[in-house]
Amino acid sequence: MAVVDIEAARRRLESERARVLEARQHLMDDTSRSMEDAVDEDGNDSHMADSASETLDREMELSLGDNAEHLLESIDAALGRIDAGTYGKCERCGQPIASDRLEALPWATKCIECKRLEERG
Ligand SMILES: [Zn+2]
Repeated sequence: MAVVDIEAARRRLESERARVLEARQHLMDDTSRSMEDAVDEDGNDSHMADSASETLDREMELSLGDNAEHLLESIDAALGRIDAGTYGKCERCGQPIASDRLEALPWATKCIECKRLEERG
């Protein structure tokens, strides 16, 4: 069965999109709150012990926030391709993208062969 279930893909993309948006919003709230914490007035001990891991968290949050932007773009593009009727086609060779690949990565734009070629350079 190589036929892609477009409606299932759309639902998945939409729920993924909502999830990413929510996560991003969360990150933004979190980041601004952490900024305020940095100039915290009480400076109590429980904070000090956490400072190393907080720095690490901050870095992870920032890169996650970056990824969220890219992910949203990819998801929106995939939803656009569904509307345009080109979803599931490799943008490089025009062949259908394997359905198991689309299940793993609903916003994939290339078939696995083209992706490999691309990664090889
Ligand atoms: Zn291809």
